[in-house]
Amino acid sequence: MDITSVNPATGRPIETYRELSDDRIAAAIARAHEAWLGWRATTFAERGALLRRAAQTLRERKRDLATLMATEMGKPVAQGVAEVEKCAWGCEHFAAAAEGYLAPDPIATDAARSYVVFEPLGVVLAVMPWNFPLWQVFRFAAPALMAGNAAVLKHASSVPGCALAIQGLLEASGFPRGLLATLMIGSSKVKAVIEHPLVRAVTLTGSTPAGASVAAQAGAAVKKTVLELGGSDPYIVLDDADLERAAAVCVAARTVNGGQSCIAAKRFIVVEPRVDAFAEWFSALMKRKRVGDPLDEATEIGPLARRDLRDALHRQVAASIARGAKAVLGAEIPPGPGAYYPPTVLTGVAPGMPAYDEETFGPVAAIISARDEDDAIRIANDTTFGLGAAVFTKDVARGERVARRVEAGAVFVNTQVASDPRLPFGGIKQSGYGRELGAYGIREFVNAKTILVA
Ligand code: NAP
Repeated sequence: MDITSVNPATGRPIETYRELSDDRIAAAIARAHEAWLGWRATTFAERGALLRRAAQTLRERKRDLATLMATEMGKPVAQGVAEVEKCAWGCEHFAAAAEGYLAPDPIATDAARSYVVFEPLGVVLAVMPWNFPLWQVFRFAAPALMAGNAAVLKHASSVPGCALAIQGLLEASGFPRGLLATLMIGSSKVKAVIEHPLVRAVTLTGSTPAGASVAAQAGAAVKKTVLELGGSDPYIVLDDADLERAAAVCVAARTVNGGQSCIAAKRFIVVEPRVDAFAEWFSALMKRKRVGDPLDEATEIGPLARRDLRDALHRQVAASIARGAKAVLGAEIPPGPGAYYPPTVLTGVAPGMPAYDEETFGPVAAIISARDEDDAIRIANDTTFGLGAAVFTKDVARGERVARRVEAGAVFVNTQVASDPRLPFGGIKQSGYGRELGAYGIREFVNAKTILVA
């Protein structure tokens, strides 16, 4: 099977890549393992120096990389540049912090000395999505490489150019050849990679069905997994919130990356006396979003990444409307070959509608009314997902109390949920398990080895 990238703004194919044969997959894994044998013996200082150089290379190439993302998956260039900058920050953070995160941990026992050391596992398979084609990979790779691991990357089939660019960038920055290798393969070949004896663990970011399938295969092969899956993040707007500010943050959080982010805000749960006013503010700001050519600096929302995903999103919107939701903005597919979808606002969203029950991966907002604070928390938790959430209130202590009652991997008070290399990131329930980033993330792919001296 060939892998063909398609420009979602035009519908035209960009490039076709030959899928790797089984022999070449096995050879790439063997080379990554070989590279790992040397890499695991390097010091944090040596690894950090290379990662700092990678940060520099990222910055030097940021225009080209942003253009590549714009053409392969429709990300507006200004956001692409910001994504590259974030990757550079992630590299620099782990270059500086990894040694501290992985410092031996002394534990007092009856022995003369006992402590835990953190050692690399070997080759980790990363199955990655298209929505942040660079950041998703660096978010895994920066800590994993600093911990002394190697990696094989199975990137989403819609961003093969980005996958090769990442490998090339690391090699150009001085990393050993093959230490992070792109496997140009479709998802049907992932099982064989997981089963390969030299592959020691798997991380997947993507949809819940993909995560479930990969986790089952890894489970059968007794290999550790980290899963970062979808979300239907609730943003709770309490009765005492600054409505104008809350609406502005909520719009930014819903439209980040065209709404194609696992931690994009998806359900806006507003306490009843404020719901109409919120919907008005929110819709007015959504309407102002500039949708257009991702190569135009002024564009805020480009096309969605693929036409089939755009059509699936529209089916969720149409089914929600058929079940009683009201479209106050958008909800119509524009003419033309691109995978565009307009900023859309649905009010009166209730259980039984896809906009309530499922993840919507695009610029579609579901506004849900709640009777009071308790009801808002109940609705926030009435989801199979548990990734991020936010609470808006003028009373910060109240916000923190509510945050503790929301079932999610992260709850932010009065601001938009965002990943940060210093903070752990991940979910519960169908949003997955394990953590990326921060001290928690870097310890996912290590052997916490106990040493005891009698
Ligand atoms: P997806 O199917 O989950 O793809 C993500 C990655 O997993 C890709 O590399 C994909 O490869 C691979 N994959 C898919 N099914 C697999 C399987 N059975 N075994 C092994 N690997 C598999 O995501 P999508 O279809 O592109 O997007 C659909 C939905 O996924 C979105 O609507 C959204 O809900 C979710 N999603 C979430 C995130 C996130 O950040 N959490 C990111 C992207 C998508 P191929 O590309 O070759 O199929």
